[in-house]
Amino acid sequence: MAELDVLPKVIRHWIAGESVDSVGAATFDVTDPASNTPYAMAAAGDARDVALAVAAARSAFPAWAALANPERARILHRIADAVEARQHRLARYESYDSGLPITQAGGQARRAAENFRHFAGVVVALGEEAFRQGGKQFSYVVRTPAGVAGLITPWNTPFMLESWKLAPALAAGCAVVLKPAEWTPLSASLWPEILDEAGVPAGVVNIVHGIGEQAGQALVDHPDVPLISFTGSTATGRHIARCSARHLKRLSLELGGKSPVVVFADADIEAALDAVVFGAFSLNGERCTAGSRVLVERVRYAEFTDRLAERADRVVVGPPSDPATEVGALVHPEHYARVRAHVEAGAKEARLAAGGARPALLPEGNYLRPTVFADVPRTARIFQKEIFGPVVAVAPFDDEAEVIGLANATRYGLAAYIWTRDLQRGHRIAHAVESGMVWLNSPNVRDLRTPFGGVKDSGLGREGGVHSIDFYSESKTVHVALGETPIPRFGSST
Ligand code: NAD
Repeated sequence: MAELDVLPKVIRHWIAGESVDSVGAATFDVTDPASNTPYAMAAAGDARDVALAVAAARSAFPAWAALANPERARILHRIADAVEARQHRLARYESYDSGLPITQAGGQARRAAENFRHFAGVVVALGEEAFRQGGKQFSYVVRTPAGVAGLITPWNTPFMLESWKLAPALAAGCAVVLKPAEWTPLSASLWPEILDEAGVPAGVVNIVHGIGEQAGQALVDHPDVPLISFTGSTATGRHIARCSARHLKRLSLELGGKSPVVVFADADIEAALDAVVFGAFSLNGERCTAGSRVLVERVRYAEFTDRLAERADRVVVGPPSDPATEVGALVHPEHYARVRAHVEAGAKEARLAAGGARPALLPEGNYLRPTVFADVPRTARIFQKEIFGPVVAVAPFDDEAEVIGLANATRYGLAAYIWTRDLQRGHRIAHAVESGMVWLNSPNVRDLRTPFGGVKDSGLGREGGVHSIDFYSESKTVHVALGETPIPRFGSST
């Protein structure tokens, strides 16, 4: 295969513009999920490597922060160009390392480039705020980059999610230390050549690979990193929040989800079905906003569930590199075992309507048939827990009040999807559902200017558009008297 020709055997840190091994020379194996065999070694960073990366970022920060927004924006457009120039290699890397179907990995590479263009546009358009109180007083707000940002990212769509943090951090003028997920470091090995080609000065971006509890933890604990943007599991997010209290770090936490899809009987059932199948099974179901709980009004429930199961049975599961594949290999054997355990538990709690097993023709690798559980009670583990695989739970409802209760019956609150032709009802449900984002009669299409994030256990803060720039910036208000302002003369009595 052509892609094997260019796969690196060693993946190193990138610190101060140099490709380096860990100070302690530690490494970890990188495996591909279609065969679970190691194909490369990656540097395993610890506090010493993070300290070097933070020092490099601190010394590069002042010059980067001093650039005018349009100058940084020009560099961001060059990063997007460099990503686009490599989109096929990126897609092959991502697909090989994370198990994403190659066609879907291609979309992620294009989206990564779009993220840089988007945030370049946001900072160019950004103005300063100013307030005038009559002719007396004038106040204005100065926005400055917040410093060295720590970026910690997960293994699902890794390159795209790295770009989702790198782009606004760089646009805002921060220098960064990025800690990619240890199960999927391959695509991040392309950042150095991309950033070099775009003319990003050495030290502005530093990458430390490694295990979360070592490299990630060291970044969270470092006193010179005042802000952490984290995307990953709720458990790790909670832990990071606890550790960050010591230095009062600013946090953006994009965490897990168990998002409901509400389908009323009057909905465009064909569109709803397409959206449910795509939303639950694309990206291998390893998608934070996957619609993984489908709630269907009882009069259409049996029909909808049967058709969903039929569609799930027809989804093509295959090797990630095959262009016909719709669901590839789950990222790692450990994650695969967790997903399989959820499926086993589900079989005892609900009716298995489709999937539930490894495809017969794929005896090796982390493959699972798209799985549909029907008649799932709200107390069931598969109704409550994020599975993060191609598994969907379906349940009936009778009225609006019941479905709002069901939609809100988990600890998560990331996304929700509503399908109905009654738009007043659609908006009512949209307002009542506890989630950061709602799609009404719409598949999961993003406008990058809108705030992205969740409520409850799904996170803290919002990313996207100016919300991201706010996160990576400090603001300072300057108050000026425009003329004589009477000042009470304390201490002037004789
Ligand atoms: P994870 O929490 O295990 O790991 C995420 C990152 O945190 C990795 O880089 C890991 O090395 C690092 N990490 C682990 N322990 C750490 C520690 N003690 N200190 C600092 N860093 C540490 O999550 P995952 O399994 O890689 O990702 C899947 C999860 O991410 C799912 O729950 C999914 O819903 C969530 N996710 C959320 C969004 C969102 O935008 N809300 C997007 C994608 C994924």
